[in-house]
Amino acid sequence: MAGPIRRFSEFHWEDTDLLAYKEEGSAPFKAITRQVLFRHPALKSELRYFEIEAGGYSTLERHQHVHAVLTLRGEGQCMIGGQVFGIGENDLVTIEPMTWHQFRANAGEALGFLCMVNVDRDKPQLPTPDERKALAENPAVKTFFGE
Ligand code: MN
Repeated sequence: MAGPIRRFSEFHWEDTDLLAYKEEGSAPFKAITRQVLFRHPALKSELRYFEIEAGGYSTLERHQHVHAVLTLRGEGQCMIGGQVFGIGENDLVTIEPMTWHQFRANAGEALGFLCMVNVDRDKPQLPTPDERKALAENPAVKTFFGE
């Protein structure tokens, strides 16, 4: 059992596994790692740190559970509910239930963020081709998707 303090170095915390973002092939994503920072039987939430390498992206998804996100490192964009926002260090992002969302790191710079979620949460849904096409009707989203 680790002690109460786990030191931080280069966006990796002591005694904390550097994990894959998701199971490979389970959903589209690119160049992300995950560290579970806090998970305790007495807490109903867990806090994770995700880092997206330059040019990488998270899965485009939606779900009933809420995300509370705090950017710790770098700059990038997020698409939330059909709108695209630039985000940088210390910005806070709330993702409401059943809202399509995706994060991307800027070229040349990693994007790192904390994300708090319920321990017990529903499985993310992926968009159908039609749902993805509907989001891309907004030119900003189309550009965000790299189309
Ligand atoms: Mn999500």
